[in-house]
Amino acid sequence: MNLKTDVCIVGAGPGGALLAYLLAKQNISVILLERFKEVAKEFRGEHLNEEGEEILKKYGLLEKVEKLGMLRMERLEYWENGKLFKTVLPDPAIGHLGIHVPQSHLLTVLINEAKTFNEFSLMTSTTVIDLIKDNEGSVKGVKANQNGNEIFIESNLVIGADGRYSIVRKKAGIDVTVRKHGYDLLWAKIPAPIHWEPTIKMALIDGMQLSLFTQTNRFIQIGWNIPEGSFPSLIKQPFMPFIEKLIKAFPELESTVRSHIQSWRDFVLLDVHSNYAEQWGKKGVALIGDAVHTMTPTGAFGLNSAMKDADTLASVITEEKVSELELIQCSKQRKKEVARLQAIQIEKEQTFATQFVIYS
Ligand SMILES: Cc1cc2nc3c(=O)[nH]c(=O)nc-3n(C[C@H](O)[C@H](O)[C@H](O)COP(=O)(O)OP(=O)(O)OC[C@H]3O[C@@H](n4cnc5c(N)ncnc54)[C@H](O)[C@@H]3O)c2cc1C
Repeated sequence: MNLKTDVCIVGAGPGGALLAYLLAKQNISVILLERFKEVAKEFRGEHLNEEGEEILKKYGLLEKVEKLGMLRMERLEYWENGKLFKTVLPDPAIGHLGIHVPQSHLLTVLINEAKTFNEFSLMTSTTVIDLIKDNEGSVKGVKANQNGNEIFIESNLVIGADGRYSIVRKKAGIDVTVRKHGYDLLWAKIPAPIHWEPTIKMALIDGMQLSLFTQTNRFIQIGWNIPEGSFPSLIKQPFMPFIEKLIKAFPELESTVRSHIQSWRDFVLLDVHSNYAEQWGKKGVALIGDAVHTMTPTGAFGLNSAMKDADTLASVITEEKVSELELIQCSKQRKKEVARLQAIQIEKEQTFATQFVIYS
């Protein structure tokens, strides 16, 4: 199959889906490609900060997402040995410490809104495998695989919004510098007990961060940092002493944890790293979100930054032919901001334990 479009976006995550909506709204024809059958997924960054909230408000999308369900965090709490010792309240002007938005709700709204424009089309179960280039090496489109069939999509601009292991970035020959952060993450989801309030709770276990994020529809997401690369040796040890540490930190969760987390298999392991690229594009291709600056979970910046990249880029893609100069200026502006956020992530990770120094 051969198709043609102004802009071909690879990856229907928050960055790609938002950009597709914004471009279609500007009458620019756009094809959004997603390798999975469904765009709604779990186990992704789901906390919206003020920046992401602002973008959704600007386009009248926040209330549409809220109709599907979201939850504003009321407090950040620090706990030690089952006792709360410090509470951070939101700035009254903002009114929350982040909003939990199930990614399925966010993506459903973005895709449904994009579908109201004729210029938009979505192709799921479609995996991009290569870039189409001309003799000078300029990118002219993508080659994809859909259920075993080859598809060629010709476009004026290809957007790599395909996440941390971006094929678009690799095929464009853009290098990233990968940074390890000294930890990996165990991730699990349990039902919230009755009366559990919309809070983020933190504890320090053996010098590592343990976080509880209250989620929409009465769930708690557990994020437990473990030393980088330690999982294979950790799972050779008995499970009970490990999980007892969580129960000691948050005794209110004892019965829920005992019934829902019974073995190492009840945790998902996430390999934590960040990366950044000096180059955010080449002739005919631009990268956004995790494809060009993978973030760690710290501070909940990744999804918000991907959306900000999309919003900024949409403002310069106004014609059929995008000016290369504008793309470069746009990436310069975003690069500075992302470098600042990645530095904040490192600082937060390195100073987390100091939150637990209690002065008497
Ligand atoms: C454990 C964890 C918790 C996090 N928590 C937060 C948080 O609370 N708040 C926050 O802001 N950020 C958080 N983040 C970061 C956040 O998840 C990412 O920064 C964000 O999802 C990046 O969005 P994106 O659109 O750039 O890419 P992604 O969300 O990764 O989307 C990329 C899309 O491209 C598709 N794709 C990939 N390859 C291809 C291909 N070849 N062909 C077609 N499609 C393809 C993928 O299937 C995917 O749908 C967290 C990250 C982790 C690991």
